[in-house]
Amino acid sequence: MLQPHTNTIAIQHDTRGALTRTHLVESHQWGWQKVTSNTVDDIDTLASILELNASAVKGIAAANTFELRVPLPFISRMRVGDINDPLLLQVLPLKKELINPVGLTHDPLNESDYNQVPGLVHKYKGRVLLTAAVSCPINCRYCFRRHFPYDKNRLTPRNWQPALNYIRKNSSIKEVILSGGEPLLLNDRTLTALLDEIEAIAHVKYIRIHSRYPIVVPQRLTETLCDRLLNSRCRVSLVLHSNHPNEIDDHVTRHLRPLVNSKVTLLNQSVLLRHINDDANVLSELSEKLYDAGVLPYYLHATDPVTGTAHFQVKDEDAQKIGLALANRLPGYLVPTLVREVSDRPGKTRLPLTP
Ligand SMILES: *Cc1c(COP(=O)(O)O)cnc(C)c1O
Ligand code: SF4
Repeated sequence: MLQPHTNTIAIQHDTRGALTRTHLVESHQWGWQKVTSNTVDDIDTLASILELNASAVKGIAAANTFELRVPLPFISRMRVGDINDPLLLQVLPLKKELINPVGLTHDPLNESDYNQVPGLVHKYKGRVLLTAAVSCPINCRYCFRRHFPYDKNRLTPRNWQPALNYIRKNSSIKEVILSGGEPLLLNDRTLTALLDEIEAIAHVKYIRIHSRYPIVVPQRLTETLCDRLLNSRCRVSLVLHSNHPNEIDDHVTRHLRPLVNSKVTLLNQSVLLRHINDDANVLSELSEKLYDAGVLPYYLHATDPVTGTAHFQVKDEDAQKIGLALANRLPGYLVPTLVREVSDRPGKTRLPLTP
């Protein structure tokens, strides 16, 4: 039996004192668990590591209940001294988040309606989402799950049987999607136990993992984890989450390599974010960098209308223009499908690419 406290990694600071620029380089040599327990979680430390002007940061940023959290390998790809860095703007808590225009809600996807069994969301035909872990090693400011009641939905070996029973009893379920939060926050032993349980259900043919970990903490793709995925009884796909070409560096590419050209399918989803990647040049460079790393673009999500994310919203007509510009310059397999999640629809809604 697994110990109750060892199945996920506690996210907290080591007691070694303040994190500094020297830790950025060092962190590439650390194991993923050490990186995860040494995320930067206060604005002053982040500003100091990036050598940002402290009063400029104070002018736009402010702590809030969805706290700053960012791992060192991700910070190492941010530009020093640039307060408009596209990776920084994905994680820095801004005062703007406190603005709440009408129409932005806590649960825009109405997920609570489809969440009858703890840890499971069954909304789409043939596939279920397991919300495997409660939090993330990074807090993305635009996250549509930032208000999700994770505490009630955390899966552990002691409480995941009701969700598994639901899958066992529904032979229409062909695909199980491990999502989050962040499913790869579960350690390799717990993940292996969960995959064993899922693979033992005969009608499940496909397993999918949605994770930002291989982008933000590349060493999460341990040899043990890669081997387990390569040896699955099911067809496995790993859907990464990267929004900007600067997120793909040599460390990311190197750690993906054992899965490239294997029977594991590597895909990426992005979220369209104003002032970060709402530009066809940026997104086509992202598609090409992903392809060079062995990953194909899957979805480009229109931003969900979540409380606190108004400043990230891209108008549908602008999103559609960007989508069309991508289709006009890239081969079809490098064009992500532009989608929006509309509550109570049986699948993602495609936005047409208008000329
Ligand atoms: C996005 C999503 C899925 C997966 O949808 P695909 O189109 O298969 O990628 C499944 N369930 C829920 C609730 C989702 O939001
Ligand atoms: S990694 Fe995904 S689930 Fe986690 S905070 Fe970012 S967008 Fe949200």
